Amino acid sequence: MNNFEEYATRFVQQVGKKEGPISPVMINSASFGYGDSETGEGIFDGSVKKPLYSRMGNPTSAQLEQILASMDGGVGAVVTSSGMGATALATLSLLKSGDEIISIGGLFGGTYSYFNETLTRFGISSKFFDVDELEEIENAITDNTKIIFCESVGNPNMRLPDIAKIAKISNRYGVVLMVDNTITPLSVKPLDLGADIVVYSTTKIITGNASSLGGAVVFRAIKEGEDKFKAPRYSETHPFIKKMGSMALIGNAKKRAMRDFGMSANGFGSYLTLLGLETLPLRMDRVVSSVEKIALALDKAGFIIGHPVLPNHPHHTRYKELFSQGCGTLLTIDMGSKEAAFKFLNASKLVTITANIGDSRLLGLHMASTIYRDFDAPTREFLGITDGLIRISIGLENPDDIIADFLSARG
Ligand SMILES: *Cc1c(COP(=O)(O)O)cnc(C)c1O
Repeated sequence: MNNFEEYATRFVQQVGKKEGPISPVMINSASFGYGDSETGEGIFDGSVKKPLYSRMGNPTSAQLEQILASMDGGVGAVVTSSGMGATALATLSLLKSGDEIISIGGLFGGTYSYFNETLTRFGISSKFFDVDELEEIENAITDNTKIIFCESVGNPNMRLPDIAKIAKISNRYGVVLMVDNTITPLSVKPLDLGADIVVYSTTKIITGNASSLGGAVVFRAIKEGEDKFKAPRYSETHPFIKKMGSMALIGNAKKRAMRDFGMSANGFGSYLTLLGLETLPLRMDRVVSSVEKIALALDKAGFIIGHPVLPNHPHHTRYKELFSQGCGTLLTIDMGSKEAAFKFLNASKLVTITANIGDSRLLGLHMASTIYRDFDAPTREFLGITDGLIRISIGLENPDDIIADFLSARG
């Protein structure tokens, strides 16, 4: 029933080596000697598989990429300097001026601004929808729609998409579905559900201890025969499909985004992420059971809690049916006002007040005064940001200690 056990074995075996240094070898060199000119030429034309230059790929990062690709059943992955770097790489490798994005869910603030403010400056427009507006989503698809983007869990509105249903729509119209799976690695497998590309901020639960900023994009293989990428909508990828076949999306991402925008991961960051990744299955298992226990206990104690384990949540049934491995570390508490939210957070002895999520430690943040402070009222309403909303990310602490701390912080 639980997916995490399979990964518990795989990850520790894939991160450590049986011979020589057991801890991953950290290669921090920016550049690499080719030895002779013929090898240099071969590296550049792709016939020699050796490191070219760390902006284009690094051996320590490559180990991380292999494990993340296998985690999601992808053909390959590209790791990046941050989660926003991953979203930028995944999107910019496909987009051109005039293209359109359909964006679904209670979007992460950075992603929302990137789509709504930054990409619009380059002639790329986005339309935003709730996870359940399937008919409106279908009607919004045009010849210029390049990407349907969705988050596996609304951060922080906690609304849950039916990813398989959204994938069916995207496949029917031949549009790429990209899923930000930052909050639910291992729990949700977007490629198995029909998505094409998966985006991660590895800063969060994959590394899990605030030691390293990073991101990753996992790509599916281009299929033999019919594939949506072979249609005119994605003509920019066709030279890569011709040259690299199933691996085309990796080459496309590296040459059309990584090389030119430079959102590359570094060896030290990838090393730290590998150390975190090795214990991800254990930590995921722990927080998924803690977060449910805490949500139920606080709800019973009269807190206004946002989490789909609660029967009053609009996606409770979907949670039970489609999210059997949980939906990550988050829950929300609505304290009614900014003042009450500040007072609660300041009174808690266990919460670390910060913008991060998915950490070993219990984290919390008042939303409207921080990440969403620059957003106008209608946008906040769309994203589910009320005046007293606190986002909580449950850590590895004893859940009973967290419940006791919250009850005492409420006073
Ligand atoms: C944090 C986060 C990001 C951005 O990641 P960074 O590593 O901070 O750049 C993107 N999506 C989601 C869902 C996130 O939580």
